[in-house]
Amino acid sequence: MARCRLCRSERERTPAEIYLPAHRLPLCRKHFLSWFERYLERTIRTFRMFTRRERILVAVSGGKDSLTLWQALVNLGYEADGLFVYLGIEENSFSLLSRRAVEAMAERLGRPLHVVDMKSELGFTIPDLRRKTRKYCSMCGTVKRHYLNSLAKRLGYSVIVTGHNLDDEASSLLGNLLNWNLKYLSRKYPVLPAERGFVRKAKPLCRHYERDIRLYAELRRLPYLAESCPLSEEAIRPFYAELMDRLEERAPGTKLRFYLDYLRKALPLFAEHKEEFMERDLVVCERCGEPAVGSPCLVCRLREEFGGAGT
Ligand SMILES: [Zn+2]
Ligand SMILES: [Zn+2]
Repeated sequence: MARCRLCRSERERTPAEIYLPAHRLPLCRKHFLSWFERYLERTIRTFRMFTRRERILVAVSGGKDSLTLWQALVNLGYEADGLFVYLGIEENSFSLLSRRAVEAMAERLGRPLHVVDMKSELGFTIPDLRRKTRKYCSMCGTVKRHYLNSLAKRLGYSVIVTGHNLDDEASSLLGNLLNWNLKYLSRKYPVLPAERGFVRKAKPLCRHYERDIRLYAELRRLPYLAESCPLSEEAIRPFYAELMDRLEERAPGTKLRFYLDYLRKALPLFAEHKEEFMERDLVVCERCGEPAVGSPCLVCRLREEFGGAGT
């Protein structure tokens, strides 16, 4: 059996229980955890995402990715707090269990958790929205981004981080490449600067494989919710994700190389023309002051339609 590569240098010679094919790295449990966090630290530095002097807002859903990110950032000494949007999804008690997971996590870390209750802010929940429109899934994303951005500004956070992992990024890159979505291809950097009313955004787990994140969450016994949203209808993305999995199986490291080479070689070429690929200029919503494609923004229009009392 292979020995842990990091143990050997410490003259311990523990058998490796974990093998990371993409990195050709056999590791023991203890060194897997420290490798995971150091690799995260390197990603944060390489892409100049943020520093330890900045306040970080983590978008937490209760799933393994966002809770892993929160735990690892705190372990690395970052000042990271959580934001959870309660969507009111009662199917499988999804929202309730998600909320319990993020609350347990906040308590474990001893860090503040901000909770936005969609029903009291907007007057409706995601199931309400689903009864009115088929586009509820993408609208849910818009609502979550809206609150992340406006709360980060109001509460003085310099950066918003999300738990997107390498598998997410590689499969969405593949999908957008196959469709030559130039708007996407010209601006999908893992950190987007603060501009035009948007707070800086970063994806610190963009170089971590999903399976490694799951393993980290399990080994650290994070109180994450394993179920994904029962209302999600992302039918096309899992197909690209499956394709990427097949490629990865054939040639370990494909996802990582595909994504990193895009960032290094292709993105700069597309980015030179990124203004041309923008569909519409952003405006400032006259009601809430948030950047949006139209005014009033979608969130303000929905709030008006459903008669919510929030801000
Ligand atoms: Zn070891
Ligand atoms: Zn608005």
